[in-house]
Amino acid sequence: MLVKQLNNLKHLVQDMTEDSLGRPLKDLRISITDRCNFRCNYCMPPDQFSNNHEFLPRSEILSFEDITLIVKSMLSLGLKKVRITGGEPLLRKDICTLISMIRECDSDLDIALTTNGSLLSKFADDLAKSGLDRVTVSIDAIDDKMVREISNSNVSSQEIVDGIIAAKNSGLKVKVNTVVIKDFNENQIIPLVELFYRMRVTVRFIEYMDVGGTRDWNPNQVVFGEEMRRIIERGIGTLSPVKDSQYGEVANRWCLEDGYQIGFIESISKPFCNSCTRARISANGSIYTCLFSEHGHDLKSLIKMGAESKDLTDAIAAVWGKREDRYSEIRQTITSKSKPVQMHFIGG
Ligand code: SAM
Ligand code: SF4
Ligand code: SF4
Repeated sequence: MLVKQLNNLKHLVQDMTEDSLGRPLKDLRISITDRCNFRCNYCMPPDQFSNNHEFLPRSEILSFEDITLIVKSMLSLGLKKVRITGGEPLLRKDICTLISMIRECDSDLDIALTTNGSLLSKFADDLAKSGLDRVTVSIDAIDDKMVREISNSNVSSQEIVDGIIAAKNSGLKVKVNTVVIKDFNENQIIPLVELFYRMRVTVRFIEYMDVGGTRDWNPNQVVFGEEMRRIIERGIGTLSPVKDSQYGEVANRWCLEDGYQIGFIESISKPFCNSCTRARISANGSIYTCLFSEHGHDLKSLIKMGAESKDLTDAIAAVWGKREDRYSEIRQTITSKSKPVQMHFIGG
């Protein structure tokens, strides 16, 4: 009896790997490729990511086995959710095999994927069959001209919406993310809400962030969540706040009178670092403890040197234990021109 209780206690302690500010490690975002078929102006602007751009060579990208080993090693630290991202994750060959391999690590793990939606119609069924739980689709406009202007691609909004429909039909839980940029796509907020209201898909509006350093971000380009809500209230109807459902939730949820929920990710006006439970793995296998980190810790070399799951667990626990990141809370006090890692490389 006592042994059983001690084991339970040990399990509890293991499940509570906390950083230096008391935040547990629950989520892992893995960038499985630094490549993308879009060139979004705010993420991979075409002048910096031309056809000659040198992406990571295949030998430097984490293999599926490496990724699975990392996920396994983090389960005993309390990992509950894995998000596959990029770059564009659906460009990675045999992605469904990777999802099945992660699913085999733990049947309870929440496995999600973030995609620009352009290839989703093609993959939705297989993704669902391989064990994916949810998908987040990024779409910044309904207006085709605007979609093409933002993404510098030939993809139409209908192709992305078709991907969303396919994902819903295959049983995946679907959410939509929209980055809102001042004087650019604010006029898309209402059409996006109207469309996704009809489709009963949750849309989340994101404040444009100074991440990655690919463009000279300017605070005047940010539309605060409060302003987005005013736009929705003027155009559609009253919004009421919904209480946070779980610790670490990034979106503030509001609902229309009939209960339809809309999320706002307000990392500029309402930073949520105090409950940030996310670690990130870059496409070449380094772990980052903040989206705004300048440096990561190289796990791939450890794996190459023969590290086993337990060794990775110890290394990651040590990195997480020292974590002090809270960039969004202190952004205004930072004077040095730091160069954070780029979003397509570290994963959004
Ligand atoms: N290619 C996939 C996609 O676009 O969904 C996954 C990777 S992308 C880097 C992940 C998310 O980051 C997207 O929703 C994108 O809109 C968001 N993102 C990129 N740069 C951003 C920025 N500066 N501010 C806010 N969100 C950003
Ligand atoms: Fe590609 Fe996503 Fe970045 Fe757009 S936001 S360039 S789709 S990685
Ligand atoms: Fe987490 Fe860093 Fe974003 Fe704060 S700034 S919420 S610590 S990723």
